[in-house]
Amino acid sequence: MVVVNPPFPLIGSPELDAIYDLPFTRLPHPKYKKRGVVPAYEMIRHSVTLHRGCFGGCAFCTLSVHQGKFIASRSENSILNEVEAITRMPDFKGHVSDLGGPSANMYCMQGFDLSICARCSRASCLFPSICKNLNTDHKPLTQLYKKAANIPGIKKVTIGSGVRYDMLTGRSPDDSGRFGLEEYTRQLVGHHVSGRLKVAPEHTSDSVLALMRKPSFRLFHQFRKDFDGINRSLGLNQQLIPYFISSHPGSELKDMANLAVETKELGFQLEQVQDFTPTPMTLASVIYYSGIHPFTGERIYTARTKEEKLDQRRFFFWYKNENRSWIQNKLTKIGEDKLVARLLGNQPGRGKKP
Ligand code: SF4
Repeated sequence: MVVVNPPFPLIGSPELDAIYDLPFTRLPHPKYKKRGVVPAYEMIRHSVTLHRGCFGGCAFCTLSVHQGKFIASRSENSILNEVEAITRMPDFKGHVSDLGGPSANMYCMQGFDLSICARCSRASCLFPSICKNLNTDHKPLTQLYKKAANIPGIKKVTIGSGVRYDMLTGRSPDDSGRFGLEEYTRQLVGHHVSGRLKVAPEHTSDSVLALMRKPSFRLFHQFRKDFDGINRSLGLNQQLIPYFISSHPGSELKDMANLAVETKELGFQLEQVQDFTPTPMTLASVIYYSGIHPFTGERIYTARTKEEKLDQRRFFFWYKNENRSWIQNKLTKIGEDKLVARLLGNQPGRGKKP
């Protein structure tokens, strides 16, 4: 197989390749033998890890804390060898369920000038804006998807890891061409979605998103437009599934009400949602426990009691009959009457299909 690696040395590549060269059995630990199906194993048995690390630096997430901000990528050769090994697994039917990592699309990405990165104290290379020193070239990843899909025995390669759509949208046309963003998006949406593509805007409120170190929801609008356009042009009928978090530090009921309205008006009935859980070593947990943003000294409201958390969560499910009168009363109580008609009026969401 002819392999073309990116034209620069990859951080951690020899070390990762050496680990993935080890003769793993690709089976659950023998202690699970009597338990039958192991759901976590089912999800990853035919998937391949491309890289470690995440430079997103989201305030609630531990990934960049325990895997690091700098991406360590495997060589293309090592990855394609593993895909070939999967085709030889007795239970393999042709579907590779993921070529991913902590984020799907950070493979081979690193600073142009690593000496600048070595002195850098930013928690995120993407927030508040994408660092100019960050090489977000998606071409190696696009090539990799194509090569993996062409391996004999492979019928379909899908991407199960979360895609950072903010790296694909909102860039100048020059950057889009230079980094192969449009080509990647077309390849991803056209060939590597298993019916539903999950992405994580996490919230719609700019103030909450800023606390999360996440980009503006405007970029989700753009990505959705691109996703729908590609589906239309290819005659596909795939769904975009957005993930959201309630009760993140800084999120108030009015923010959840606006989230409900905004996503309803985009045609979503949300299902992939979660309530904020403080995790060790994260900025969000410090705010959750102290009530203070440690970098600004600002007091930040956080929903902590069971009732406060349930109240926030209920706004996700505005479309359920049992929540309607509760939501109406709550909106009146918090002075957001103007949202009642928009959220509970007759204009239906377009259901689960965006
Ligand atoms: S210099 Fe830029 S690319 Fe390098 S670590 Fe800092 S934010 Fe990330």
